[in-house]
Amino acid sequence: MKNNFDVIIIGSGPGGYVTAIRCAQLGLKTAIIEKYAVLGGTCLNVGCIPSKAMLDSSERYHEIKDNVNVHGISVDNLQVDLEKMIARKADVVSKINGGVSYLMKKNKVEVFQATGSFVDKNTILLKSENEEKTITGKNIIIATGSKPASLPGIDIDKKRIISSTEALVLKEIPKHLIVVGGGVIGMELGSVYARLGSKVTVLEYTGGILPSMDKKMGVELQKSLKKNLGFEFLLNHKATGATNNGDNVTVTAEDKNGNTVAIEGDYCLMAIGRKPYTTGLGLENVGVELTPRGQVATDSNLETNVKGIYAIGDVVVGPMLAHKASEEGVYVAEIIAGQKPHIDYNLIPGIVYTSPEVSSVGKTEEELKTEGKNYKVGQFPFSASGRAITSGKTEGIAKVLTDAETDEILGFHIIGERASDLIGEPTVAMAFRASAEDIARISHGHPTYYENLREACLDVDKIAIHI
Ligand code: FAD
Repeated sequence: MKNNFDVIIIGSGPGGYVTAIRCAQLGLKTAIIEKYAVLGGTCLNVGCIPSKAMLDSSERYHEIKDNVNVHGISVDNLQVDLEKMIARKADVVSKINGGVSYLMKKNKVEVFQATGSFVDKNTILLKSENEEKTITGKNIIIATGSKPASLPGIDIDKKRIISSTEALVLKEIPKHLIVVGGGVIGMELGSVYARLGSKVTVLEYTGGILPSMDKKMGVELQKSLKKNLGFEFLLNHKATGATNNGDNVTVTAEDKNGNTVAIEGDYCLMAIGRKPYTTGLGLENVGVELTPRGQVATDSNLETNVKGIYAIGDVVVGPMLAHKASEEGVYVAEIIAGQKPHIDYNLIPGIVYTSPEVSSVGKTEEELKTEGKNYKVGQFPFSASGRAITSGKTEGIAKVLTDAETDEILGFHIIGERASDLIGEPTVAMAFRASAEDIARISHGHPTYYENLREACLDVDKIAIHI
């Protein structure tokens, strides 16, 4: 029968397109459906990639403006051209869009640009502007991702009250950006505009920023953003409303004691998280169950309650991260092909691309305390690192948590220059269940940032060399 596939994937984000490639590699006849004109999903079009492009551009400006003078370099007449910066970001995205399309062709994955919805457990209706048709598949994978979430009473009007998507295409640098939510997206996009000159105020419901990471990381990042970029933090504040007044916005919040504060800015960025996206998928036609939080419910093989229908990425339980979505995609492809894959959810690194960067893998100290685990801590400040001093990037700390009896590494948390890449070493070490002593006994190049990790491991037994 024509258009009969082994696997149909709905959604082309880092979950969907990676699944498609892996399915094709395994010899499965594969189709991918994407409702937008370009492939790559949130991550490529309005998430990871464009935000990193803007972070990179704004960091260059900030470095030249505030940090190169000490190196004996002075620059006159420094200017920001936001339009050009955003155009460069669009070019970066478009280059990678082309790359994903090329990979689909190369792997002979059939791409349908349409909105997909379930007719029955093997039939998907494809609706595009000019056409409606159905295709069938033995297995269907839901990879429809997520959308920005808001709070009751706050409507993201996309003008003054914006989500990350609009924050990546602003026409002007805000004078005062109010960020609701002290998580990763808020800190990253807040940094972009603070570097370009905006005053940034963060309203956060809990008592600290980066609430899901090791507490020390949030504390250190908060200090740094305040000192270097003038961030203002209103912690323990619950945002209760936001009003677009035409040329500005008023955000109201309640503090711990029930007092109301009102803050005026020119934009309010809602960055309280994202919600799974299943609208229009027709899940009710096949009886696929959702969790109480609206995620597609799956078993440990990522299969839904309907046999042959799987779900991966932001639309299921777990951290909303591109590499987690991709891991799950590979996993499901291999399950369908009859293999026995494995994902270690404890070893999915989390990264914040601020300056300094923050990264983390494994357990936080707070989690170990809650579990009643007997653990040890080793720490090394970047201020004692030769490499960090040469580049003037001395903010930060490497922190390792180990099992007090066996010395196995249970968690690694880094704030400092290049933390995004540094987390690779502890992730590999933990995958091989290494001890802190294992890392400490491996020769590390000098002078490097990754020496700091070795020093933190030595500090577990209080034998660090440089502190
Ligand atoms: P998505 O990427 O959301 O893709 C889902 C796709 O499905 C979309 O293209 C959508 O159009 C399509 N779709 C939905 N319904 C249908 C339908 N019915 N028919 C056809 N198509 C449909 N993660 C990181 O790991 N690192 C980062 O640095 C990072 N930075 C981020 C920065 C920002 C500003 C944001 C918003 C997110 C960031 N993320 C980051 C998170 C990351 O983008 C997501 O975790 C990731 O995109 C999830 O991938 P996914 O494949 O599950 O879904």
